Amino acid sequence: STIPSVTLNDGSRIPQLGFGVWQVPDAEATTAVRAAIEAGYRSIDTAAVYENEAGTGRAITEALASGAVAREDLYVTTKLWNSGTRDWSGEQGRDAVLREFDASLAKLGLDYVDLYLIHWPRPMHGSFPNIWKAFEQLKADGRVKSVGVSNFGPEQLTRLLAESSVTPVLNQVELHPYFPQTELRAFHAEHGIATEAWSPLGQGGELLAEPALVKIAEKHGRTVAQVVLRWHLQSGVIAIPKSVTPSRIRENLDVAGFELDAEDLAAVAGVATGKRIGPDPQGFDWN
Ligand code: NAD
Repeated sequence: STIPSVTLNDGSRIPQLGFGVWQVPDAEATTAVRAAIEAGYRSIDTAAVYENEAGTGRAITEALASGAVAREDLYVTTKLWNSGTRDWSGEQGRDAVLREFDASLAKLGLDYVDLYLIHWPRPMHGSFPNIWKAFEQLKADGRVKSVGVSNFGPEQLTRLLAESSVTPVLNQVELHPYFPQTELRAFHAEHGIATEAWSPLGQGGELLAEPALVKIAEKHGRTVAQVVLRWHLQSGVIAIPKSVTPSRIRENLDVAGFELDAEDLAAVAGVATGKRIGPDPQGFDWN
């Protein structure tokens, strides 16, 4: 395949482009993931809170059963939601995490996932280091090949690095040309943590009409979405764009045949606003 992969700090490899299914209803997730696998995606990103693990899993088990793809060639990510338990402390909290994981795995219909993420750090509770102990156990038991985090900041990563012997393989964070996360990426690089971009297309809004990006797209005879995904790849970032439209699903994977030059990269850097689309994880505490 033409999709490059990234080697993670535990020796495993993840495709640099994957398929996200946030906001896709369960039944539609089956259709979308089916289309994605047919198009050539081998990495799928879901989460317990998306309520489409079952629909996502249906498309995956179908593809496995048909022989279209082997399990070891697929990379499946899911995430622990915030409301698994109110008591995130001690052994009880750890057991609750394991139960949440069991439920996700059962919905997916798989016997392991490639990557399990803590969805949000909720630093105001200080419970993520204890949750991480359950994650370490899942990895030791082989039910999860790799463990990682999402929406963590340098403070929370520093604490995990200090208190744990298992470093997260990656941190999945909001990242797109408006919000390029330059400092966090440098912190990750320093500590061997890969960067995965959520909302890599800025959720498909005004970013894809940004004049500077339209100009680059015209220069290369590509779409703005392709230019933005190419920028992620050339930045060493893992991206998981979402679409339910088959032509866009294919378009978003077709980014191997061109290269952004220094001038293009400078122009992309020029659109940064430093503004998030999603919530600031340091204060985010939804259940
Ligand atoms: P995205 O940046 O991938 O944008 C998706 C939207 O862009 C689509 O709904 C569509 O409207 C548009 N789009 C997609 N391809 C297009 C194309 N080729 N041309 C024109 N428009 C196009 O946004 P996202 O879904 O928020 O993020 C991607 C994935 O990241 C999610 O599905 C989910 O898996 C993950 N995510 C994780 C978190 C987290 O907290 N960890 C938060 C948000 C999203």
